[in-house]
Amino acid sequence: MMAKGTRRRVVVLGAGWGGLTTARHLRETAPELEVVVLERNPIFWSCPLSNKWLIDVVDTEFLLHSYAEPARKYGYTFVQTEVIHIERDKKRVLTAKGYVDYDWLVVSAGIKVTYEPWFGNDQRAIDHVQANYSSAYVPSAEHLGLKRRIKEFKGGTIVMTLPPPPHRCPPSPYERACLMAAHFQKNRIPAKIVILDPKPRIAPIGLGYKQAFEELYSKTITYVPNAGVKEIDPFNRVAKTAAGDFKFDDAILMGHHQAAELTWKLGAIGRTADGKPTNWAAVHPQLYNLKDDPQVYVIGDSVGAVSPQFGHYPKAGHVANRQGRSVAQYIAQQAKGQAPTPLLIDNLCYMLVNPDPLEAINVQFDYKIGPEGHLIQTQIDDNERRLSLWKEDLRWYGLMMDEFARG
Ligand SMILES: Cc1cc2nc3c(=O)[nH]c(=O)nc-3n(C[C@H](O)[C@H](O)[C@H](O)COP(=O)(O)OP(=O)(O)OC[C@H]3O[C@@H](n4cnc5c(N)ncnc54)[C@H](O)[C@@H]3O)c2cc1C
Repeated sequence: MMAKGTRRRVVVLGAGWGGLTTARHLRETAPELEVVVLERNPIFWSCPLSNKWLIDVVDTEFLLHSYAEPARKYGYTFVQTEVIHIERDKKRVLTAKGYVDYDWLVVSAGIKVTYEPWFGNDQRAIDHVQANYSSAYVPSAEHLGLKRRIKEFKGGTIVMTLPPPPHRCPPSPYERACLMAAHFQKNRIPAKIVILDPKPRIAPIGLGYKQAFEELYSKTITYVPNAGVKEIDPFNRVAKTAAGDFKFDDAILMGHHQAAELTWKLGAIGRTADGKPTNWAAVHPQLYNLKDDPQVYVIGDSVGAVSPQFGHYPKAGHVANRQGRSVAQYIAQQAKGQAPTPLLIDNLCYMLVNPDPLEAINVQFDYKIGPEGHLIQTQIDDNERRLSLWKEDLRWYGLMMDEFARG
């Protein structure tokens, strides 16, 4: 489809938070390079703010953006296609539309949700969960199905299983529970939401969420810690966990999260000391390149552990955005024959716990290099729910969309 021309080329796989940021900034940091973005979806769909959309705090236009407009504005090529394989030895990518050659490759393909730990290769059970109890944790039509299920729910018990860490956007399942509970309470729907958390406590922003659960949603939300899933029977609607068995009428069954399939195809998955896959990409903690290839990068949620102190960066759009900006700079330096200068990133996240009145909580993370040369993370939870944090969330989201998603 696209053999190499005269200009050197960066190919970006995935037009989500990390990929679009990389493409936009590359056009400024290295205008001499050609940039090609490959993405399976026809339109950008934001997972951030999607919990609010589920109960109509924001509308659909807020989350959806045309891929054509930023591509035109910043001057990169966008191709809608499924990426099938990566041939690193030939420096080319196989897509449903043909081959694309690259000089640099940036993979920001997000996560894969897997149900194998529960069901092995029982495809009937996996299909049943995907059709009826999917979690809407990747940009896909699952969001539409979940919204319909919430709107049509007449009453009963909804079980929400959280994945074992690390997983995409750690505070967001609790936010979703709060907003669903608010919707059910407002509409007098006799619903119970049971959160089955494999962790021993709510994290992050544990106090803020605990207060919201107790003060606003005690009739509706039951939080169960140490409730790692042992077995799910999706046909008889039972979740068997380390904290007991739970029957449900409806459910949001969050399968295990791991690096996106493309990261596996890249051969980028790390190994544990005993040789098992870590399920996440092994990259340099600040440069994000593969250890054996300085011109192939993995960013965003697929990135594996980066620090002995805190393990993974939180899997957040903000982090993917900061990594995308960094990689644009690294590639520009390499294009000039220079070694990349590692950059530090930051992270923050706002979670709406009350839609009426609008009140949010917040968590912030800062990173520095510690005395032993490792990344160190500082986390600050802001547990006091208030309107000003919701306004900050809207501002943050608007700035992000203006930066990479809106033309
Ligand atoms: C409910 C929810 C709420 C969230 N709230 C926040 C928040 O408030 N703040 C925050 O910072 N983060 C939030 N996040 C997390 C955020 O969505 C992710 O961290 C972010 O999207 C990660 O960026 P990424 O580029 O790694 O992946 P993505 O944004 O998922 O992009 C990956 C892209 O790759 C494409 N792709 C994958 N495989 C292929 C293939 N084979 N061929 C072609 N295309 C492919 C996908 O279609 C997708 O568009 C939230 C997530 C959820 C689910």
